[in-house]
Amino acid sequence: MWERESRFTPFLPLFLLLFQIPLVEYSSWSKEDAILVPSIQLNYKVGELERQCTDGIADVEKQIRVFIDQDCKKLGSDEKVHKFDDLLWQFFDEQIQYLFMSMIHPDARIRTESETCERKLMAFANGLFSRQDLFKVLNVKSIQIQNYRLAAMMTSGFFESGLLKNQETADQISNLHQEMSVLEQDFEHRLKNDKTTLTFSTKELAGVPASVLSRLEKSKEGGYKVSLRAADVQDILTYADREETRKQLYIADQSKPGPENVKDLEDALLIRQKIASLLGYKNWAELQRRTEISTNPAQVRNFMNTLHTKLSEGLEQDLDMLESLKRKMDPNAGPLAPWDFAYFENKVLETRFKVDTDEFRSYFPAEQTTDRLLRLFGWLFGVTIEPAKELQVWDPTVRAMAFKDTKTGKTLGYVYLDLYQRKDKYNHAAAFQLRFGMNKNGARQLPLTAIVSNFTPPSNKALSALTLEEIVTLAHELGHIFHFILSAGSDSPSFSGIAVPTDFVEAPSQFFEYFIRRPEVLELLSGKVDQPSKKIPLKVAKAVIDHEHFFHPLHTARVVFRTMLDLEMHTRSGKVDTTQLARDLFQEYIGIPLPEGTLPQASFGHPMSGYDAKYSSYSLSRSFSADFFQPFERAGVLSADAQKKGTALRKDVFEAGFSDDPVTLCSRFLKRNPTTKAYFKEFNRVY
Ligand SMILES: [Zn+2]
Repeated sequence: MWERESRFTPFLPLFLLLFQIPLVEYSSWSKEDAILVPSIQLNYKVGELERQCTDGIADVEKQIRVFIDQDCKKLGSDEKVHKFDDLLWQFFDEQIQYLFMSMIHPDARIRTESETCERKLMAFANGLFSRQDLFKVLNVKSIQIQNYRLAAMMTSGFFESGLLKNQETADQISNLHQEMSVLEQDFEHRLKNDKTTLTFSTKELAGVPASVLSRLEKSKEGGYKVSLRAADVQDILTYADREETRKQLYIADQSKPGPENVKDLEDALLIRQKIASLLGYKNWAELQRRTEISTNPAQVRNFMNTLHTKLSEGLEQDLDMLESLKRKMDPNAGPLAPWDFAYFENKVLETRFKVDTDEFRSYFPAEQTTDRLLRLFGWLFGVTIEPAKELQVWDPTVRAMAFKDTKTGKTLGYVYLDLYQRKDKYNHAAAFQLRFGMNKNGARQLPLTAIVSNFTPPSNKALSALTLEEIVTLAHELGHIFHFILSAGSDSPSFSGIAVPTDFVEAPSQFFEYFIRRPEVLELLSGKVDQPSKKIPLKVAKAVIDHEHFFHPLHTARVVFRTMLDLEMHTRSGKVDTTQLARDLFQEYIGIPLPEGTLPQASFGHPMSGYDAKYSSYSLSRSFSADFFQPFERAGVLSADAQKKGTALRKDVFEAGFSDDPVTLCSRFLKRNPTTKAYFKEFNRVY
């Protein structure tokens, strides 16, 4: 698919609250500082994680007390702000390792403790900016601020808490946030722990390749159990010849984890409306978006509708092609349904574009492809990436890598690659920031990051090999990692890449995706499992990319649907019937009915994990990434000139983090204002 939906971190709600800390530009570290190699705790006795988490919170509460009662009396205005910024990041830098354990730890008890820790942290963060005593000492009016962007952010946390109105409003809002975060966490918890499996006989799974069947659990009756993990669902929907099998699986997947999630979502929407109204905003979207690049929900709606208009001709052709293929294969078949998309798209790939997906995959063994990807992007940005023996890993399949500046040889940061599906692991793909680039105990801590994804694990029978979709996913997550690591030299994490507005946060990662859609890059990344020098024929690489491009409108329409669902949910007033809304929008933006019995909003995690009223980020960011890919495409993506442009992009956008607003950063690189032209052009039909 063209649109990655993987998030840059599932800890977003907490981040957002912490981002509202006051900001002032300052330089608190010397480039000569000693270097601290980052690490996270991996082994816990039962009870230890929760205790450390609670102790950490108690400790930071104490530090805030000392900050208010003693430090502030001695410090000037600017120093106060720096001190507070540092205090919070030091705290969060310690705590984030506990949150990460719910994603990867093999012991269910530790994962539960990790989730409990997250609840406690949310409660702490919710109360922080409603504190009158804190507000008094950080009173923004008395602080010298260097520019208006920072000035706006200074007041943000206290504004959102309601404290700028009065204490009563602040208390009310704090309680509402507390209620909302319980709903959000329950929603996520159910989604994460959904253990639904469907059992199918061998006959019902006709068409599914042996490589997929071999990793499924066998049922007692001699058939197979299919979980609702993303990789399983995707594979069965792509290959199962029997429509009823695809239909059952699709409906189960699109209604998981059940109506309780719909209720929590709808209750959260009501709470959000109350908070928005207490703060004087018409709706949640207006409140949420005020710090984004597109501040007004109407701007976003216009953008999405333009996008929809641009893609509609192609969408119609996509649907027609799939429908006519369905009819051709079975004249008595029912109308085209969403469970048909992946299956017939694959049939089009095989028949019209003459590509065998299993054959394609055999050119991309996971580990070698990952290494070649690292080399490619390393080359582009002047970074050398090599194994980091100094870091411990949590599973034998996890690799730790160090990023070094090619010119100076200096280590810039680290990434863990936890790429393969494993029991009880986080079910999607995402990039995580585990330690921040910051001063710690008199030394400079290097950033530590991780990619967690769910590729088919290597088995005795076969190496893991990647689909095009998986290669694109990996490139996408690497884009986030490069952004995190390269921007970590900023004075505070508040100025690094993770702090950029959501409207821009996906742009670096989507920029990396564009490279994969060049035949010469696919050729470079390829090498047969058993014969590494054997590269994919350019003709095949080109056909796969053409096929992707052909279905680009349909894939994008799905993103438009989800974006509009998110936006509409957060601009309406009163109780929102999200099921009816999903039905209406699906018909409007995808062009066919939403199947009965599905509840797509129940497993739509973004609006319940920090992307509320911000899902549009995936489309808005893409207009930036498409724009800054242009110069690379013109230069030839593997040319020496492209590498020069890579150096400029590293400096102007990646290293710059959030030192300036993203539009300014992009203009610096492009030498003009960014436009939506390049993105919209992708939907011109050439067929
Ligand atoms: Zn992403």
